[in-house]
Amino acid sequence: MNADASNCRRADARAWVHEAIGRLARETARSADTHLLKIDLPGFPGIDFYFKDEAAHPSGSLKHRLARSLYLYALCNGRLCEGQAVVDASSGSTAISEAWFARLLGLSFTAVMPACTAPAKIRAVEALGGTCDLVDDPARVHTRAAEHAARGACHLDQFGLAERATDWRGNNNIAESIIQQMACEPQPYPTWIVCGAGTGGTSATIGRYLRYRRLPTRLCVAEPAGSGFAHGWRRRDPAARASQPTVIEGIGRPCVEPCFLFDVVDAVVEVPDAASIAAMYLLEQLIGRRYGGSSGTNLVACLQLAAAMRARGECGSIVSLLCDRGERYAQTLFDPAWLAAHGLDPVPWRRTLDAGLAGGHWHPPTP
Ligand SMILES: *Cc1c(COP(=O)(O)O)cnc(C)c1O
Repeated sequence: MNADASNCRRADARAWVHEAIGRLARETARSADTHLLKIDLPGFPGIDFYFKDEAAHPSGSLKHRLARSLYLYALCNGRLCEGQAVVDASSGSTAISEAWFARLLGLSFTAVMPACTAPAKIRAVEALGGTCDLVDDPARVHTRAAEHAARGACHLDQFGLAERATDWRGNNNIAESIIQQMACEPQPYPTWIVCGAGTGGTSATIGRYLRYRRLPTRLCVAEPAGSGFAHGWRRRDPAARASQPTVIEGIGRPCVEPCFLFDVVDAVVEVPDAASIAAMYLLEQLIGRRYGGSSGTNLVACLQLAAAMRARGECGSIVSLLCDRGERYAQTLFDPAWLAAHGLDPVPWRRTLDAGLAGGHWHPPTP
């Protein structure tokens, strides 16, 4: 049963809100920072690579940060109260993290997802006590979430609120954490930080923080080729649409989402899906652990930026993110039969990556 919003106005309602915020504060206190892994690539002397392991969060992805912020934002705005149902539209990672926090707070949670979402992600939401409302048409997830909200649920609204729910000036946001972890490194101010754009929250937080701290670091968004963000950023056009679909979950939105801040992004690198997948396999080899497709997209962009730096004779450091755990894609991106059925062949790209790693250059396969 949904508690109706008038519950929030009961005299004792604040006591529950205080307890809920206390639970989030205690969860933060129990959490360690995620590792910043250093990777040495022989073909790039003088260029240091670092990957922040966001898969290490208890709910398995960088969306752990966003979910914590969205719940806190809803609570502090007085729009989430005891017994209220919670809903959000998500392609998976956010839903898993939001379900994780719903369980922490004793709330019921519904994820509105496209029916094509990886089965392992659906199971993960359900294992945490959440409910999945699957819609056939991915474009309808927002309206379906709004329908739940109209019936009294609190809409966490990751796409509407991601850039403002996070404290961009610090408070241990992802950018502050990266810069602190880099402090004792030989090249502490990265030449580039590379991330993807799903909600746009991560790129907004990093881009703002770099300016706030007056750092020279530039921000590159790594996106699936032809994504809404890539077209929109180039033309500064909020109405831009993706020119091709992507199988990389979490990034590559079909349209420009409300939290995309074009002006804090210095470069966009577009990565074909097969290249992201080849790089995802390469990451497993480099790190000894599986990460998802968007982490592969990031790695490809890092190598392209590094190859350009090397061609100009520059040294420096590049920092990027490992966004989620690869186990989630066992039946999709990590299944050769699934790749073949989707016409994706990572092999030519793997040759490009291996040659690039060894030689410090970037020569994509000829189509
Ligand atoms: C959400 C997500 C991203 C992008 O992060 P945003 O802050 O939403 O732009 C990248 N990779 C994965 C796996 C994600 O779930």
